[in-house]
Amino acid sequence: MKLYEFTKSYELFDEAQKYVPGGIYGPRTPRFLTFGSYPAFIKRGEGCRVWDVDGNEYIDYMCSFGTNLLGLKNPKVEAAVAEQMKNADCFTLPSDLWLPLAKKMTATVQGGDWCVFGKNGSDVTSYSIAVARVATGKWEVILARGSYHGSHAWCQPHGAGIPEEWKAHVHYIDYNDPASLKNAVEANKGNIAAIMLTPHRHDAFIDQELPTKEFVSAVNSLAKSEGFKVIIDDVRCGFRLNLSGSAKWYGYDADLQCFGKAMANGYPIAVAMGKKELMEAATKVYFTGTHFFSGVPFAAALAAIEENRASGVIEKIAAMGSKLMKGLADAASAAGMAVRLTGLPAMPYMNFENDTPHEKNRYFCGEAARRGIFFHPHHNWFVCAALTDADLGKTLDVAAECFRLTKVKFGG
Ligand code: PMP
Repeated sequence: MKLYEFTKSYELFDEAQKYVPGGIYGPRTPRFLTFGSYPAFIKRGEGCRVWDVDGNEYIDYMCSFGTNLLGLKNPKVEAAVAEQMKNADCFTLPSDLWLPLAKKMTATVQGGDWCVFGKNGSDVTSYSIAVARVATGKWEVILARGSYHGSHAWCQPHGAGIPEEWKAHVHYIDYNDPASLKNAVEANKGNIAAIMLTPHRHDAFIDQELPTKEFVSAVNSLAKSEGFKVIIDDVRCGFRLNLSGSAKWYGYDADLQCFGKAMANGYPIAVAMGKKELMEAATKVYFTGTHFFSGVPFAAALAAIEENRASGVIEKIAAMGSKLMKGLADAASAAGMAVRLTGLPAMPYMNFENDTPHEKNRYFCGEAARRGIFFHPHHNWFVCAALTDADLGKTLDVAAECFRLTKVKFGG
């Protein structure tokens, strides 16, 4: 097969650097991928596929970093969007879909008695921390080392331009380690507002890890006995594992839950939800944004959640993801390569054995991209409901070839 070329992508990327710092920033830059083996810009998408600016076609296992759940241009979602667009999108006041979505969300998510809407995951993770602080009158916050909760100053993993003291109230534990949690609670006794956790450990670069029963129960019981709030950051997993929320799925007794990404199948909206007893504290936290109130994403969210439920999306992506994981494991072992497939099937990740720092993975994923399969060497992948068995077949054929090439280049 003819390998993809990215002439236009990299011409545009070079030119973009004159107009945009770094050309493309954050994890969307081709520098976070295998530089030179991936496109830089996407022209269009449909279902589980995207086409880059050079016309190359991909089966996309990044799903727009998790927003694409039902398939790009899902007809039900697009119809709801078109309907709202007849009335226009952004008004002086919220649209008439504000209340319907709040009702839909509270009926859907277990333990979510109220909603506060923003645009990005970072909006609602930051907001939830503030609500917990108001409710408890405490400042300290516990996070798991390496977990990502957004780009805002208090939690972003990078430091440039951010005074150290802005992160002064944040303390880190090791995910899945009750002893580490107990130590952090002891060290900050009486002063803790909240612990924020992703439902399972889906940090970049590392094997994905599901929470142990012991860890979940230590979180729940310490929160109760010490009086701090449990915030589950479901921005990435939400609507992929369980429609009632990943907190319920794993058994966390969440006081606050955050969603974004997949909730409107790519339209920009995020939501913080909380227990009834936090509603008064929630009203005290200042939270707004010019675009928070635009109607189209509300229409998209209403349609996406309904479609998720009606067409059994969660079961479907779990089944397809299981086939993908098994197929990759088989293809790797047939090529004599040892890999670790971790995480849940709806959002798996693959690492190679003896591969620091991810050279085999960067090579494997880059070669796959040049053959039309968009994996990511550093970040967990996503399965969307538009993926078919034929797409999986093509994926595994390409993977078999890329495992063979990786073996030739690096040995077993
Ligand atoms: N929390 C988690 C778990 C995330 O994965 C992300 C985004 N990758 C965020 C928060 C921040 O969301 P956003 O980029 O929409 O601000």
